[in-house]
Amino acid sequence: MNSNIEWIKDLNCLTDIHVHLDGSLSYETVKYLARLQKIDIESDGELKDILSVAPDCRNLNEYLQKFEFPLKLLQTREAIRYAVCELIREQERQGIIYSEIRFAPQLHTHKGLTQKEVVESACMGVDDSRKYWKTYSDHNLILCCMRGDDNEALNYETVNIARKYVGKGNGTVVALDLAGAEGLYPTDMFSGIFREAYLSGIPFTIHAGEAAGVESMKCALDLGARRIGHGIRAVESDDMTDYLVKNNICLELCPTSNLNTRIYQRIEDYPVTELIEKGVKVTVNTDNMTVSDTNEANEIALITDTFNLGKRSVRQLIMNSVETSFTDESIKNRLRAMVEMNFAQVTGIRG
Ligand SMILES: [Zn+2]
Repeated sequence: MNSNIEWIKDLNCLTDIHVHLDGSLSYETVKYLARLQKIDIESDGELKDILSVAPDCRNLNEYLQKFEFPLKLLQTREAIRYAVCELIREQERQGIIYSEIRFAPQLHTHKGLTQKEVVESACMGVDDSRKYWKTYSDHNLILCCMRGDDNEALNYETVNIARKYVGKGNGTVVALDLAGAEGLYPTDMFSGIFREAYLSGIPFTIHAGEAAGVESMKCALDLGARRIGHGIRAVESDDMTDYLVKNNICLELCPTSNLNTRIYQRIEDYPVTELIEKGVKVTVNTDNMTVSDTNEANEIALITDTFNLGKRSVRQLIMNSVETSFTDESIKNRLRAMVEMNFAQVTGIRG
């Protein structure tokens, strides 16, 4: 295998548009937040057991258990603000100049915060992180509604908060999402919530085509999703891939995460090249850097190494992210220019 990791790590124009806050806290952040809350952690080895999936992880439900501890730490304004700032700082360190960090406000209210306070704290974290940004960087937030059968009112509250932020010109909260156990709670259970989001003009992506198949994606697209989280199983239906191409819908692929949850047993089975050959726009993302013990450069190298993709394909993956991002058109133009320039500097490839 001819590893591309070195030159990909040199890029200063990476993007990550599918990354969860709670699944991506660095060990340093977790240790700091645990200390504040007087929780003892013995060693990094213990942390790894708590935060990252074991190689024998069997499915999405087991994977989701890895969020329990980080969520326990993220129940105060200070912790949320700090964690968001530190995640963006780490992304900048890794050459990520554009990200959309997602979290579910309703999961951070166990110690009395309101969803509104949770979102305010996260926005403050983005503001705090600006001192680490490159001049052309941009980082935004996506608010997740959660799959479940007893939280409808909480999901509506999340939509209401998004309505107050999205499109108000400050950019920080840019969209909604639906996350959680897709296999247990089908997408059509959440039609009312996303119909309301659609009518309010709030853009959204939905996790679909991961634990469940094409039907779940079809439902998400009928509701008006602009992107699909994962969506890798689109490859199972020509009608679906045709629809994605015709409507310029981009998939937020997260390769290692899909291996962890056993949607595919081996990376060689991951159908990314089939999707690209059919003309579907895809992006490559981390999903959960800490749970999956990965980062953006690793994810791109994994795909390019396995499927022998060239440097121009890598640039296309990054450009797809910029194109489909929920940020303003003027920022997209700036990001496109930076990707062109930095990519040429690192690889010598132009145009
Ligand atoms: Zn996800």
